[in-house]
Amino acid sequence: MRRIDTDVVVIGGGATGAGVVRDVAMRGFRAVLVDRADLAQGTTGRYHGLLHSGGRYVVSDPRSATECAEENEIVTRIHADAVETTGGFFVSTPGDDPEFPDRFFAGAVAAKVPVEEVPVGMALKAEPRVNPGITRAFAVRDGSVDGWQMVWGAANSAKAYGAQILTYHEVTKIEHENETVRAVIATDRKTGEQVQIECTFVMNCAGAWAGHIAEMAGCHDVQVVPGRGIMIAMNHRLVNSVINRCVYPTDGDILVPVHTVSIIGTTDVKAEDPDNLNIPAAEVQQMLDSGEALVPGFRQSRALHAWAGARPLVKDTRVGAADTRHMSRGMSILDHSERDGVKGLLTISGGKLTTYRLMA
Ligand SMILES: Cc1cc2nc3c(=O)[nH]c(=O)nc-3n(C[C@H](O)[C@H](O)[C@H](O)COP(=O)(O)OP(=O)(O)OC[C@H]3O[C@@H](n4cnc5c(N)ncnc54)[C@H](O)[C@@H]3O)c2cc1C
Repeated sequence: MRRIDTDVVVIGGGATGAGVVRDVAMRGFRAVLVDRADLAQGTTGRYHGLLHSGGRYVVSDPRSATECAEENEIVTRIHADAVETTGGFFVSTPGDDPEFPDRFFAGAVAAKVPVEEVPVGMALKAEPRVNPGITRAFAVRDGSVDGWQMVWGAANSAKAYGAQILTYHEVTKIEHENETVRAVIATDRKTGEQVQIECTFVMNCAGAWAGHIAEMAGCHDVQVVPGRGIMIAMNHRLVNSVINRCVYPTDGDILVPVHTVSIIGTTDVKAEDPDNLNIPAAEVQQMLDSGEALVPGFRQSRALHAWAGARPLVKDTRVGAADTRHMSRGMSILDHSERDGVKGLLTISGGKLTTYRLMA
């Protein structure tokens, strides 16, 4: 068995783990990040590509909206190579609730999310493919972000501060002694070799798998609910800015230009197993219809690829157990010494890719 000695082990190489390992290394601790696959192969590599302005949550989740607005500025600055500052619009399409735009604007002001109402003609001039029947338009600071570029940027920065990044290492066990964490055992999936990483602290950043990791340390009932969402990439850049429907968050309400394609999404359904996410044909049709409402003729472009990801949503007692659409997008930190009597273990979950730095 190979042995490594460190201060902190970070489990999970998505946005959250990459942000945490960078932060830990910058504070001068020895740190090792382990992921069972490559970096960003969990939800971080299967998401919508939107660097949120916060607009999407101003009515449903104002706290997350403010966090997104603040982090949007910071992420744009520190990951300039991963972010495209596309800007975005919230538009009311025919048949949408005519009262929502006023609630949206008031919510944005209250949550300090920069929003400006613009003449419909101006929005259509900027985005000529958008539905000409829109009745109101608001400009926001949405962007698009390449999740892989962002995560590798954070991981490389952590490496520059001395951290080790172990990809294709699957954590199988967390050992503790006298109720204090002392080692993480992982299997190198390329060689089959066991690795024992002696440490004094473990950060569980395993996203939708965080409950499973906590269980390995004897901490039960960590309720991270996988909220499955599908997205479809169309073969054109149909729009150059992010187009959001100005409605209460719902399925298929955002179209994001990412590199040379446009991505329509998404749905939100509780999944049983984040490793087994299906893509129902009905949801694909639903996304294509939603695209059509935003950009008439949407279905005439070619759908390149459909995929699904699992939101790591912390169970929210305000809504039903299966209602992942309305669970908070806020972040959560569990200190297992208080909760379970296991010292040296934190679980960090929830949040958005946009707020990954704040979570760390
Ligand atoms: C459909 C959808 C669309 C989204 N769109 C957006 C968006 O547009 N903008 C936005 O800001 N956010 C978006 N999000 C949210 C965002 O993608 C997630 O909040 C974020 O990616 C979660 O990152 P994470 O690091 O916590 O989890 P993950 O990226 O899932 O990372 C967890 C890691 O843990 C690893 N792991 C699991 N088990 C083990 C083990 N035993 N050993 C070692 N490693 C292990 C996994 O391989 C994985 O890499 C979206 C989410 C979904 C599902």
